[in-house]
Amino acid sequence: MIDLPSPNLDDRWLPIELVVLHYTGMQSAEVALKRLTDPEPRAGRYPGPWQDPALDPETLLARVSTHYVVGEAGEVWRLVDEEKRAWHAGQGHWRGAAELNSRSIGIEIVNGGHDFGLPPYPDAQIAAVIALLRDILARRKLTPRDVIGHSDLAPDRKLDPGERFPWARLAEAGVSVWPAAPAPTIYRDLAAGETSEAVAALQRDLARFGYSVAESGVFDAQTASVVTAFQRRFRAARVDGVADAETIALAAALAA
Ligand SMILES: [Zn+2]
Repeated sequence: MIDLPSPNLDDRWLPIELVVLHYTGMQSAEVALKRLTDPEPRAGRYPGPWQDPALDPETLLARVSTHYVVGEAGEVWRLVDEEKRAWHAGQGHWRGAAELNSRSIGIEIVNGGHDFGLPPYPDAQIAAVIALLRDILARRKLTPRDVIGHSDLAPDRKLDPGERFPWARLAEAGVSVWPAAPAPTIYRDLAAGETSEAVAALQRDLARFGYSVAESGVFDAQTASVVTAFQRRFRAARVDGVADAETIALAAALAA
């Protein structure tokens, strides 16, 4: 563990009940560590595809941080003490509640993400993530269900840690969950805009795990966005927001 204190923190006011996984989405570990410890981040210091090149380089960006950063070779940097609130989650909801930064520990995993062509996560890095999660879950008396991705809590805004993140390997290691083999044959594909009890059942299953989706029975834009986040994590072979029979079966299996 390498200590690299970040000044970007304040006090928690809720108990820790989640661990949120992210990718850094930047060019390198160096740039990400600089950004996560920068008390006065200016746009000009962090050029990249996420930023309008016409933006005034002196523009102040949001101050951000995380508790841990895991490098590609399995290095672990500690930026913020777990007892303090780091600023990694932003706006979002999980299990019906907001204020995710106060309720969670954040782990940033060094990876370029979607802006850099979704590079694979090296084995040594995933082994370090698993070891860190084991330690946190044991110390904090959390369960594998309490480990989520940034895109789970903010499906309309965030894509990380992305569809190449090996959630199934984390589940095999006992630090995340994975649905049991489902029986898609008893389900049918749902249509966009459809209103039905089948849509309500899917929304119920997604909400049971923690996703923020109203049980309206209408397959609306919010539902499609949550279905996309669910697929990114549990059915990465096709991430399209379409509630096909396999996706519905996986959501039912996970809820069960
Ligand atoms: Zn993130």
